[in-house]
Amino acid sequence: MTEVFKTTAGPIMPLSNWQDKNPALVAGFTTKSGGTSKGCFDSNNLGLHVDDKADTVALNRKILADKLGFPLTSWACAEQTHQDHIVKITPELTGYGALEYKESIKGTDAFYTKETNVLLTLCYADCVPLYFYSAEQAMVGIAHAGWKGTVKNIGGKMIELWQITEDVIPAEVKVTIGPSIGECCYRVDQPVIEQVKEALQPCSFKDKFYEEISAGQFSLDLKGINRQLLLQAGVLEENIQTSTYCTSCEKDLFYSHRRDQGKTGRMLSYIGFK
Ligand SMILES: [Zn+2]
Repeated sequence: MTEVFKTTAGPIMPLSNWQDKNPALVAGFTTKSGGTSKGCFDSNNLGLHVDDKADTVALNRKILADKLGFPLTSWACAEQTHQDHIVKITPELTGYGALEYKESIKGTDAFYTKETNVLLTLCYADCVPLYFYSAEQAMVGIAHAGWKGTVKNIGGKMIELWQITEDVIPAEVKVTIGPSIGECCYRVDQPVIEQVKEALQPCSFKDKFYEEISAGQFSLDLKGINRQLLLQAGVLEENIQTSTYCTSCEKDLFYSHRRDQGKTGRMLSYIGFK
C-alpha cells in the first residue's frame, strides 16, 4: 500500500494527492521535527495543554502558521474531550485557542467549514485524524477519533451533518484516515471491545477489527473501524484512503501517548482553503 501522506524530513507531511487536485486546498499532518521544544516534547510539540512551555509551543505554532501561509488568527482550535461535538467554523470563531488553550472552542472534536482563509486544526498523539473533503460543495472537515470518538461514530456523524444541513451527498465526500496508533501496537480491554461491538452492530463486514492477544487484552484496529463506519454512513469505498503509519511504531516521526507513557507532545492535523 502506498502512503498517502508525503513524508519529508521536515515538520509537515502534506496530503499530496488532495492538494494536487485542488491548489487552493491545504491539508496535512505534522511530525516531531522542526520545532523548538525540548526533552520529551522534542521538538515540534503543538499541544498547548501538555506541560510544555507555553512560549515554546507558541513559537512552534507560529513557525507552522508561516510555513502553511495561514496566520494564527485564521486557525480553528478546540478543547478536545473525546466526544462527538462538531462545530461549523465561520471567520468569527477563528483565532481562539491558537495561543491560549483556555480560549479554545470548548468540548469539540470535529470542525468543518466552507470558508476560505480558515485553517481547521486538531491535536493528536495516537488518536485517529479524519479528513473530509467535498470538491463539489467546496467543504472541508476534520475530526479527532480515539476509541471513544470512534465508538460514538464521529466520522459518520460528520457525513450525516453535511447531508442534512449542507446538502452534501455522502457519495461525493472524500475521506482520509490519517496516521494513528495501529492494531500492531494498540491494546485495549474487554469493556472497550464491548463498546466497539455495539458501534459496529449496524454494519455488515468481513474484516476482523480486534483480536484477543492475551487474557482480557485485545488488539484494536481503530483505522479499520472508522473506515467501516464511514462506509456505513454512505461514503464510497473508492473515496476513502488510509495512512499506513502507526504513530507508536514510527518513533522518529511521531509522538505516541501509549509508547511514551503519557509524557509526550502532540501532532496537529490541519485542513483549509486558501
Ligand atoms: Zn505500531
